Amino acid sequence: MIGELVMFIFRFSFLLMFLFGSFAHADEVVNIYTSRHYESDKILYKKFENKTGIKVNYISGKGKALFERIKSEGKNSPADILITVDAANLWKVESEGFFQSIKSRKIGKTLEKRFIGPDYKWIGIAKRYRIIVFNENVKEHELKDINYEDLASDKWKNRIVIRSSSNVYNQSLIASMISHNGSSYMKKWLPGFIENFARKPQGNDRAQVMAVANGEGDIAIVNSYYLGIMLSGNSGESQLNAAKKVKVVFPNQKNRGVHVNISGAGILKYSKNYDNAVKFIEFLLEPEVQKHIVNNTFEYPIVEGVDPHPLIKELGINIIEDTIKVKKLGKLNKSAVKLMDISGWR
Ligand code: FE
Repeated sequence: MIGELVMFIFRFSFLLMFLFGSFAHADEVVNIYTSRHYESDKILYKKFENKTGIKVNYISGKGKALFERIKSEGKNSPADILITVDAANLWKVESEGFFQSIKSRKIGKTLEKRFIGPDYKWIGIAKRYRIIVFNENVKEHELKDINYEDLASDKWKNRIVIRSSSNVYNQSLIASMISHNGSSYMKKWLPGFIENFARKPQGNDRAQVMAVANGEGDIAIVNSYYLGIMLSGNSGESQLNAAKKVKVVFPNQKNRGVHVNISGAGILKYSKNYDNAVKFIEFLLEPEVQKHIVNNTFEYPIVEGVDPHPLIKELGINIIEDTIKVKKLGKLNKSAVKLMDISGWR
């Protein structure tokens, strides 16, 4: 009797699944390799699953390690999407032939062209600015209308802290400056800038904020979202206090604007779930998803009509952005690295 009942329920549930199309979705998946390691991303994946019925599998790791893994997996890689930071990193994956074009009208309509890689091989999903933080040793007039270009001036001697030249954020900043000023200008500019370092480049962006807060240097160049992370208190008391102690200024506001970079995503060449991957990338640009992203990462939204996190908004509004195409940061990466190296930026 019980056996018959179980059989009936079993058959009936199959019938229901068939009728309501669960079968069609049963093996719809999208596999994501992501260098974002936010607990909150799980909520995003759940949202996508609920909306589309497409299951999200993901692994997170460091961007470089994930790319190495994709390369060694080759054709057998289960990865459909790679999410990573900095246009120069996306450029590298693309130039080694591991991305394919994202065919989506929606993206073309939603996203400014400057945030799209060559042939739609990758796109930006959020923005970040590389800004200046400073301490109370800096007089207001010293930073009035400041440009990145001014930082090679003698008046900043022994006052600047910044991380090493191996860091891609710095490489992209220098690439943008090459794009605007030319290589020969930058070749002359870099030694003067490096001359002004208060200490040997070391630590990450947050360590530079700490160094300015405790007076090891007067100004630092860091990515905007780190201020948000530190001010949120999520990274501990000492980082919170340091971030409260410093102020920020956005360079080049009277001319081309602050340096803009992205975190972004692309669909991998050997993706086996291409259509689902397109859907997921489109999903990342939806206003409510953008809101979720920037509220957790403290980046700037990449689409119109979404506000950054309140802590980021407090740093400044109506910021003038450098509008060069971010793919240029990738294209000029080698030149930037070379110039930084010959100038002695370690
Ligand atoms: Fe970062």
